[in-house]
Amino acid sequence: MTRIAIVDNEKLKDMQQKLYIQGICPVNRTGKECIKIEADGKLAIDEYLCTGCGICPKAAPNAINIINLPEELKTKPIHRYGENKFVLYSIPTPTFGKVTGILGVNGIGKSTAIKVLAGVLKPNLGDWNKLETDYNELISFFKGTEAQLFFEKIKKEEIKVAYKPQQVDLIPKTTKGKVIDLLKKVDEKNELRKIANELQINEILNNDITEISGGELQRVAIAATVLKNADLYIFDEPTSYLDIKQRINISKFIKSLINENNAVLVVEHDLVILDYIADLVHLMYGKEDCYGIVSGVKPVRNGINVYLSGYIKEENVRFRDSTIKFAEKPPVKKKHTKEEITSWHEIEKKLGNFVLKAHNGLIRKNEIIGILGENGIGKTTFVKILAGVLKQDKGDIGNKVKVSYKPQYLEVSDALVVDVLKTAFNKYENQIINPLNINPLSLNKLSELSGGELQRVAIAHCLQQDADLYLLDEPSAYLDSEQRLILSKVIRDFIEQKNSSALIVDHDLLFVDYISDKLLVFEGKPAIE
Ligand code: SF4
Repeated sequence: MTRIAIVDNEKLKDMQQKLYIQGICPVNRTGKECIKIEADGKLAIDEYLCTGCGICPKAAPNAINIINLPEELKTKPIHRYGENKFVLYSIPTPTFGKVTGILGVNGIGKSTAIKVLAGVLKPNLGDWNKLETDYNELISFFKGTEAQLFFEKIKKEEIKVAYKPQQVDLIPKTTKGKVIDLLKKVDEKNELRKIANELQINEILNNDITEISGGELQRVAIAATVLKNADLYIFDEPTSYLDIKQRINISKFIKSLINENNAVLVVEHDLVILDYIADLVHLMYGKEDCYGIVSGVKPVRNGINVYLSGYIKEENVRFRDSTIKFAEKPPVKKKHTKEEITSWHEIEKKLGNFVLKAHNGLIRKNEIIGILGENGIGKTTFVKILAGVLKQDKGDIGNKVKVSYKPQYLEVSDALVVDVLKTAFNKYENQIINPLNINPLSLNKLSELSGGELQRVAIAHCLQQDADLYLLDEPSAYLDSEQRLILSKVIRDFIEQKNSSALIVDHDLLFVDYISDKLLVFEGKPAIE
């Protein structure tokens, strides 16, 4: 097959629209049934009859995608979710004794691949009508590759997999109880105390799982994974919600799990961390929500550079038109006005046992300031003081500024994206909606969005407000490395156009370095000073 068609029937309005689309297909007009309406009312496209003329995707851009597959793609699919649904063409292979990273944009099939490796999803080799694939079929499908050995071991039940899911914030919705009791249930190695020490979660062991922060949930989820006796450990985005210190700590911890009898797979979008944590890397490319292909395994640094370049020489595949370049200096030249928007002088604020002290500083117009520091060290308190929401005990603040704030943890509701982002759709289509690719989400409820989609909507929501100072707390969480780069450009251009300023709290060093003109560094002891 040289072409695939992806149809999201939920995004087609009604039967009238489906019949219209069917009527404009040139192949249908010759009497063949390329676009058909099934008995259940769903529109389906015959990928063998479709000529790829591009007429129907233009008529329903949010619902229909026709994709010409790369000529080099000779392999058959590993898994397809159904007719005109997402298709995965290959899977990453864990290497024993090594940490293997997976790098690719969101929606490219990383989770599908992980579920196949974890034995949670039995792949159908592209035949979605087949109820289950026999492991023998899989083994012969992968004959002569590393994956053959892997599935032979899975078949003989010689591989046990432990898996940390991506969205740790969903855990309290399905799991109840004290952290210690939950961890005791999975402690097959009898190492709870040791692991709790290493992951610095001792102090929250007696807390309820619903009462701990995102960073703590992340470390509890990692603890629950490594307490299991497994041969393959899979960590899907193990550093989101973690500050820089914790990221390095977790990376060392994950590296230390490796011995010659086990393997570790890590999906990670923080390129600095991926470079540190992984020995090898698979690149995943394709088209978001349509199809995904996994490259051969590469040494990590070489793999990251190939990923940034957008061209895999060995496989002769160009998967992105442009190269991602991280300029040493900020790429946008700014006219630095002297005008300051606010300043602070020897401020002090006591909140319970926590004391925040900030000496002298100022923020100018048209300036982006990155904020680095551990979690719980007063970053949000500081900004609330600048916004006049909190009153300092000592010291002076210059002007009170109007602040628009994107919090670290995102609230979901049943509101529609288009309603939440009314101003952005009316005023900032080119500056915010299009570059953040929010149009395809417009008719979704917030509660239906993935972590990365919700993040993009929350950023747009923050930017659409009228403010002097935009505060974005961890805008890079759940975004893939390409989206992080696009986001940094969106924020930089927006702040320049509005002649306002921004404070960006983030723990991805590459992202902070790229977006910021200056840095504010918070030092001290979390929850103390
Ligand atoms: Fe028909 Fe394919 Fe053209 Fe769509 S892209 S109108 S299905 S031939």
